[in-house]
Amino acid sequence: MAEVFFTDLRASSKENLLDKLAGLCKRAGLMDIVKKNDLVALKIHFGEKGNLAYIRPQFVRLIVDSVRAAGGKPFLTDANTLYVGSRANSVDHLETAVWNGFDFAVVNAPLIIADGLTGKEYVNIPIKGMHFQEVKIGSAAVHANALVSITHFKGHELTGFGGTLKNIGMGLGSRSGKQMMHSDVLPRVKAEKCLACGMCSHWCPAGAINVETHAAIDEQLCWGCGECTVTCPERAIGINWKSRPDVVQEKIVEYTMGALKNKQDKAVHISFVMNVSPECDCCSFNDSPVVRDIGILASRDPVALDQACIDLVNGEKALPGSRLADNPDTKDKFGTLYKNVDWSVQLAYGEKMGLGVREYRLIPI
Ligand code: SF4
Ligand code: SF4
Repeated sequence: MAEVFFTDLRASSKENLLDKLAGLCKRAGLMDIVKKNDLVALKIHFGEKGNLAYIRPQFVRLIVDSVRAAGGKPFLTDANTLYVGSRANSVDHLETAVWNGFDFAVVNAPLIIADGLTGKEYVNIPIKGMHFQEVKIGSAAVHANALVSITHFKGHELTGFGGTLKNIGMGLGSRSGKQMMHSDVLPRVKAEKCLACGMCSHWCPAGAINVETHAAIDEQLCWGCGECTVTCPERAIGINWKSRPDVVQEKIVEYTMGALKNKQDKAVHISFVMNVSPECDCCSFNDSPVVRDIGILASRDPVALDQACIDLVNGEKALPGSRLADNPDTKDKFGTLYKNVDWSVQLAYGEKMGLGVREYRLIPI
């Protein structure tokens, strides 16, 4: 059985929320995973422009300072997005992060985008999964000595909820890795958009693209890595979003296994169950929270942590004025919002693959 530590959001002049977060980090073992001079990746979602549900930078500053107190060298990180929003390359990503308040002056740590300028700086990590034998993890996260995942727990259109497994697995996958998680469908060239520049052919690791009057993909050679879809400057090779919710959850778990592979005993996970919006922070908006702000949780076990968060959310009444206002007593908040999604797949598969256990003891601090 895993230990999950929990603090509620009551505060007073004797103890504010930052004090409570500091106590939570300590109890969850943050000081134990960091050794002197360790490079410590703090995996965070900086929020899409227009979305205001992401974690407040002041909370992140407290975690940064805790890592520094343990002798570590913290940096904030995330990998670029597959979709073309405000975080698809490092320049846009860092500008958006600063726009949302994640500036060095606030968080007291540098920001390093894990998979580099255009998403091509990743490490292939071998794993034994049902879908993948290797996964593409942003190199800054791989080369860090320790990892602290900082998750905003909320709903998600494709996976039911977005918790720690998704923050790590989808979050630290490179852009082409994200394409592989999102689709099994091989890429197709839209010949009318193609300028025959040859960039896709240059980056294709399988030598599957021949460019004459336009690019052509040999489906016998293509292994569906997604590199060409994220490379084409004309978007002539469309991104495929044909994801089955259960399959994409399993793939996320496999990417999480890869990201944590060299971090055994070097990772702690913190999850903020606040501003529980129906959609993920990748959207350029955040609809009203579906339940009240519940608290902050932390654990060394990412599966137990997600299980504890979803149990707490489902134990609440839905809020008036939210998308669940007509169904306040539903015991499955995200199953009610996303009827074709079984969010428990990620938890069951995470447990099966040895990432953690679903049984936990919730320890209030
Ligand atoms: S990168 Fe795009 S525009 Fe260039 S050859 Fe490939 S498909 Fe055509
Ligand atoms: S998906 Fe990968 S292997 Fe297939 S054509 Fe594109 S770059 Fe080449």
